[in-house]
Amino acid sequence: MTRSVLVTGGNRGIGLAIARKFAAQGDRVAVAHRSGDGPDGLLSLSCDVTDSDSVTAAFARAAEAHGPLDVLVANAGTSEDGLLIGMKDASFQRVLDTNLTGAFRAARQAALGMTRRRQGRLVFISSVAAHRGYPGQANYAASKAGLVGMARALARELAPFGITANVVAPGLVDAGLTESLTPQQRRRITQDVPLGRLASADDVAAAVLWLSSPEAAYVTGVTVAVDGGLGIGH
Ligand code: NDP
Repeated sequence: MTRSVLVTGGNRGIGLAIARKFAAQGDRVAVAHRSGDGPDGLLSLSCDVTDSDSVTAAFARAAEAHGPLDVLVANAGTSEDGLLIGMKDASFQRVLDTNLTGAFRAARQAALGMTRRRQGRLVFISSVAAHRGYPGQANYAASKAGLVGMARALARELAPFGITANVVAPGLVDAGLTESLTPQQRRRITQDVPLGRLASADDVAAAVLWLSSPEAAYVTGVTVAVDGGLGIGH
């Protein structure tokens, strides 16, 4: 059975790996992103998750092209690190607006059709930072921890409609936001990871696909850590 899948922030990094993995198993995949051209072979939708109208329009185009949505992967994310005392309100709000409220806008839009059809999968991409907290990431950690609470609430609210809501919390992934790390930073981070390496985007995609699969039909409200053990105990 092929499904209609939408991945926010699916034009590059982890989102693109997720989108490609769904497409490789035959699903009809749309990727929503703000800038640039979309990746070859996937339906590309211009969408700013900080703008509700833009989210509504992108979901409508995805449904027109691919049919009613079966799976939403809320992956779009950003970071603006800075120590608390110097962090501007705008910087805190921008990160929350994209990472948390953006995922809320996408989930709300997805749930419209899913509740009617009484089926669907919501997967939110959080981060190990939600549980461990890192200096300079008050905004980012708050947004990613917020996703965990939101998914738990949605898991209960949407269960009667046959919809599951789960979270994937990657550790440091060798893609996207980490591309700017220096070799020393990478070494230091890797030393803390029990499995001794960064995650690949594919490691993360595999967890997302499992949570979206029929095998995970009885799994809802959980956070699956894909972090090589970095967050053990949290
Ligand atoms: P990238 O920076 O490579 O990609 C971010 C994606 O989000 C891009 O597609 C970008 O679109 C999109 N995006 C950002 N803001 C918006 C917006 N307002 N509206 C629509 N799309 C937007 O990041 P990664 O691949 O590294 O990260 C993907 C997710 O995984 C994020 O949520 C991140 O927090 C999380 N994560 C990443 C980790 C890592 O180590 N890389 C670790 C743990 C979690 P555009 O290209 O148009 O800007």
